[in-house]
This record gives sequence, structure tokens and C-alpha cells, in this order.
Amino acid sequence: MATPTVTTPKAAAGRPRPTPPKQYRNYIAGKWLDSAAERRAPNVSPADTRVTLGDVPLSPAAEVDAAVLAAAAAFPAWRDTPPPVRARILYRWAALIEKHIDELAAILALEEGKTFSESKGEIAKAINIVEFMAGEGRRIGGDTLPSELPRTFVYTLKQPLGVVAIITPWNFPVAIPCWKIAPALVAGNTIAFKPATLTPWTAQRLIELLEEAGLPGGVVNLIYGAGSTVGDALVHHKAVRAVSFTGSNEVGTHVYTEGAKRLLKVQCELGGKNPLVVLEDADLELAAVATAQGAFGSSGQRCTATSRAIVIDQVADQFVDLVRGHAQKVVVGDPLADGVTMGPSVDGGQFKTVLDYLGVAQGEGAKLVTGGKRLSEGAHEHGFFVEPTVYDGVTPGMRIAKEEIFGPVLSVIRVKSFEEAVEVANDVEFGLSSSLYTNDVNRMYRFVDLIETGIVHVNSPTVGGEAQAPFGGMKGTGVGTREQGKVAIDFFTELKTVYADYTGTKRTSNIY
Ligand code: NDP
Repeated sequence: MATPTVTTPKAAAGRPRPTPPKQYRNYIAGKWLDSAAERRAPNVSPADTRVTLGDVPLSPAAEVDAAVLAAAAAFPAWRDTPPPVRARILYRWAALIEKHIDELAAILALEEGKTFSESKGEIAKAINIVEFMAGEGRRIGGDTLPSELPRTFVYTLKQPLGVVAIITPWNFPVAIPCWKIAPALVAGNTIAFKPATLTPWTAQRLIELLEEAGLPGGVVNLIYGAGSTVGDALVHHKAVRAVSFTGSNEVGTHVYTEGAKRLLKVQCELGGKNPLVVLEDADLELAAVATAQGAFGSSGQRCTATSRAIVIDQVADQFVDLVRGHAQKVVVGDPLADGVTMGPSVDGGQFKTVLDYLGVAQGEGAKLVTGGKRLSEGAHEHGFFVEPTVYDGVTPGMRIAKEEIFGPVLSVIRVKSFEEAVEVANDVEFGLSSSLYTNDVNRMYRFVDLIETGIVHVNSPTVGGEAQAPFGGMKGTGVGTREQGKVAIDFFTELKTVYADYTGTKRTSNIY
């Protein structure tokens, strides 16, 4: 077994920095257990790669089996716990997350690289979702239906599936686990949860708080490890009845295909290439602020990030000037330092991807407006920092106009008409979020009709959403029912139809 590596984050100016665990442990059947993993991955801080935040076990498949079997053993009692009683644990969980919000935000900033204030925003969203789902504990229900037959009661009810696997990415390591775990739990399922290997610390704290909230052992099991072993073993485990996955298209397609082979219920929320359309009558300053917020917030590492601004020609010069101004005001640096508004890319792999796309943009002939380089001097020397970058003169066929970059890179595409804007906006494989800036109500509603995205914003950024509203995308962004909102319960339940005949006589025929 490799020696654990922990370098305590240095006490630089800015927020207090919590002390990381030396090693992360799996949580199985209500116990925190050392993994027998032969390999471990260091949790490296993306803002300063000299700082290591403990070691993550790359657990073997046998430990996945233990986690799933623990969830299966806990299922009968959890299924029979009344939903409002399950919900009380979720309310306590939400309260504990809120109590620890500063600590959690600092952890998130340290291991993922969001700024402290962005991290708090993510955690606030998680709290809202857990509270909303706890409320659903008093609302999960079916329909009562008329019958064709006399004295017959027909109704539906929603029942839990059993053991569900939850596989999450690093970019929202608090909110995404919460928006999957909360509906799964309130609906009565038990869980095997695999967080991203890059963000183990937030996962550990979330589950510790859930334990403190009173969740019985075995109901949620946390298992660390590589996607290709732990993730794959979960998807293939006989006792797993459903997989809720958020991540890349490549892995999501694999999970969906493998799941389909055994008719598993699978929900995938994948990538985005979200357009913000600016019409000639728009408030350009509002549109520019929203564009910068969507493109550079969380270093562009949001599935709902604004990666394309599609702008009517006649206002494009003015719009580009305004966006340049906002991009140049972004302060890039240590996410816990005072005054910083944008952190690093999450790791070396993602950093390289972003830098490669800057090369692609240059090769494709896009016109650099601002940014375009890594930052590597002084305080940026040891982190994965990239300048907020804007390209103008991007054409719809270019790779930077079509592919998800997941970095602080905006492509401005100039168009001649509303119709062309919609056509360009839809001309990508993804369909998660979109935004339209206009004061023309007719074109606003026409945009809502025609745009191929699961979420549409009008005069607000492509990012953001509320706990009670469904979240998810069309086309290559995902398959399965939406997450969040009351529809989230549908994925985690099976619908059962009941016919109860109270005639006390033999049923002879239907109405004919
Ligand atoms: P990945 O697809 O690389 O990883 C997601 C999760 O899947 C991780 O836990 C990963 O484990 C695991 N995994 C990897 N390989 C397998 C496998 N063979 N079987 C099962 N699980 C596996 O995505 P990222 O973490 O890089 O996240 C970024 C992506 O997520 C972006 O494309 C982004 O757009 C998308 N996303 C979509 C959202 C949406 O709602 N539409 C929201 C947020 C992000 P490990 O960490 O060990 O590799």
C-alpha cells in the first residue's frame, strides 16, 4: 500500500482552510472502513499542486459488492419506513449542511477550485434541493382512476426500486450528489454512491453529515474508486436496480449501453454547449454581464456554462466590447484568497484539454478578443490557471463552436437574423440550457417553441436553476427522466397499478 500523502494547506491570506483526512475511507453498512485498495490517488489541490489533500483508495470490485449487499440488506426496513419519517432525516441533513456551510465551501474550493462564494452558492442549492425533496415525503402518491366495472377501485402507487447506484462528477460535488441522493432516499431506495475520484473530501463530509442526521447504517454506502472499476462494477451488479449518472458523454454512453444490456433503469445527465442569443433590441449590458457570468463562473466548468454567444451582426461590435470589459475584470487565483473571482481548472487533464482548445481556436482562425493563455507566473505558478478567453468571428462549423470545452472560453458567433440565430443555436449535439436576450415578446415565445434545450432562460444567464423546477437536457445531453422538481421522484420509483374489486362476486366480463 502506498504511503499516504498529506500536505497541510498553507495558511495563506484569505479564508480558513480545514485540515484534510490522511486517507479517505469507504462507508459501508454504517461503518467507515479502510479499503484494501492496492492503489490510491492523491487528492491534489488544483490551485496549488504542491498541496495534497489526502489519498483516495481505488477500491477493488469486492468492496463494491460489500457496499451493494449492505444496501440490499438495509432495503426492506427503509422501504417500510413511512416517507414522512424518511423525510425528517433529510430535513436534519439540510440543517447540518447549512450549519457547516463555511467548512464545506472551503473544502469544495480547496479540492475542486471554485471560489469560496461560488462554493457557498452550490451548497445553498444543495440545501434547497434536500429541503424540497424532504417535502416530497408528504406528497409521493399516485392517481385514483375510474373503473369500467362496478364497485372496483383502480389506483396507482409509487414504490421504491431497491438498491440504486449513484455516480457523480467532480464539478458539482455537493449539489449533484444531493440532488440524486435526496429523491432516492425519500422514495425509499437504498444507495451505493460513487463520487468522482477528484472530489472525495466533499463526498465524505456529506455522508458524515447524513450519518449525523440519523440515517440508519446501510441505507447509503459510499465507495471510492476508479470509474472503470467501481463505476463499472456498480453498473453490472445484479442487485443494482437503477443507475443515476451525471458526467461526460463518453462515459454516460458506456453506462447507458451497459445498463441497457440488462434492461437496467438508467438516467444520464451529460454535457452541454449552451448558447446565449442576443437580439438587436436586447439590453446589451445585461446580456454581456450574463455572458461573462455564464462563461467564466466556476472557470467554465458547468454543464450549463455559456460557451457560445450568438449575436445579431448589427450589435455584435458593441456586445463584444462589453464582454471583453467584463472578462478583463475577472480576478483569477487561489479560490480561497480575498478578491479572487475565478479559480483554476480542476486538474491537469482538464487544464490540458482547455489549453488544447485554445490551440484549436487559433488553428481554426477564430479572432482572439482577450485571454488565450495559461497563467503561470507568481501566485499562479503551481496551479491550473487559464485566462478568461473570448473569441470572435467563430463560425458554426468550428470545433470550438461545437464541442464542450469545460473551461473559461467563449465563442462569439455573428448571425444576420433571429431565424439564423435559432438554427445555429440548435446546430450542436447537446441540448441542455439556452438563453435569449430580447425585449420582443413575440420572438421570445417563438424561441421557446423552437430551441432544442431542456432549460430555457429569457433575459437571464444560461446557468442557475431552482430546486422545485425540473433540470435536464435534450438530444446528446441526456436520457431518462428529469432530475430535481417533483418529477425527480419518477426515476427512483416504480409505478404499480392496483385493481380492487369489492363486489364480492365473480367477475364475468368487461363492459362489452
Ligand atoms: P466523467 O464522465 O469522466 O465522470 C463522471 C463519473 O463517472 C465519475 O464518478 C467517474 O469516476 C465515473 N466513471 C468513469 N468511468 C466510468 C465507467 N466506465 N463506468 C461508470 N462510471 C465511470 O465526467 P467528469 O467527472 O469529468 O464530469 C464532467 C462532465 O459532466 C462534463 O461533460 C459535464 O458537462 C457533465 N455534467 C453534466 C451535468 C448535467 O446535469 N447535464 C451536470 C454536471 C456535469 P472517476 O472520477 O473515478 O473517473
